[in-house]
Amino acid sequence: MLQQTQVKTVIPYFNRFIKKFTTLKSLSKSNEKKILKLWEGLGYYRRARNLLASSKILVKKYNSQLPKTIEEVKKLPGVGDYTANALLGLIHNQPKIAIDGNVKRVFARLLNKKKDKINYEKLIVLNKKKIFNTNRNADLVEALMEFGALICKPKDPKCGACCLKKSCKYFKSSKKIIIKEKKMIKEKNYDIFCYLNGNEQIALTKENKISFLKNFNLPEIKESKKISKTKSWKFLNSYKNSISNLKLNINLYYKFSNKKPSNYNWYFLKNNKEFIPSFTKKIFQKVSTLY
Ligand code: SF4
Repeated sequence: MLQQTQVKTVIPYFNRFIKKFTTLKSLSKSNEKKILKLWEGLGYYRRARNLLASSKILVKKYNSQLPKTIEEVKKLPGVGDYTANALLGLIHNQPKIAIDGNVKRVFARLLNKKKDKINYEKLIVLNKKKIFNTNRNADLVEALMEFGALICKPKDPKCGACCLKKSCKYFKSSKKIIIKEKKMIKEKNYDIFCYLNGNEQIALTKENKISFLKNFNLPEIKESKKISKTKSWKFLNSYKNSISNLKLNINLYYKFSNKKPSNYNWYFLKNNKEFIPSFTKKIFQKVSTLY
């Protein structure tokens, strides 16, 4: 849940989730519809699907235990190096480090070297005796994440309170490296076409060709260059939306009709019990003003 999402956003979702699924087994017996409904609003729905798929594999193949090798853990859906190392460290107390942006920044500062000039895996292997000089590897994984977030922060690191300052080259150097945490933002333009009926319903389909919105329930969506001129659709408004590192400029069109293409289904704009992603909910809010 925390991937690309802030802790304060995640907390209520996490609490609801673990209340509903108290064991891995109960999660594995659930289905995509239920999981997505609980995840609704958190975004990056692939995480929810992968979590469900992984729980099924773990229960069936591994007797509800996490396997102990990185190769096996990485075969679980959605699990890459970072998550595999974090899981093996946290769950099996193995000497592992989950290398994320925070950890890279800490190492870069300790060495006073630019982040992209460091081979992190090699650095960890060469210094493993010093780094893993503890039996509490699970705490070490957690501590490194927290250390980067709370002490060696991207801006204004708290060097005065830092227990590593005696060996930190950044702290001692008069020529400190500059840490850039840049996010490449891409901008894209889309036209969205909504079929609406007299029962305050909108027609949605999962069949769209936009990769980052795959499997989402959406009205018709097309990439556009400028505001489209169309006679059969009425222009409602333009607005902006963001998904991860994408900034989306959206032109919204609508048409009142009791007919819809066969691969679309009608959904109520209000009190919908189905899972509706935030991206689509925003469209619901916009077109609701027409009623
Ligand atoms: S001394 Fe400062 S820069 Fe160095 S590790 Fe500690 S907080 Fe980071």
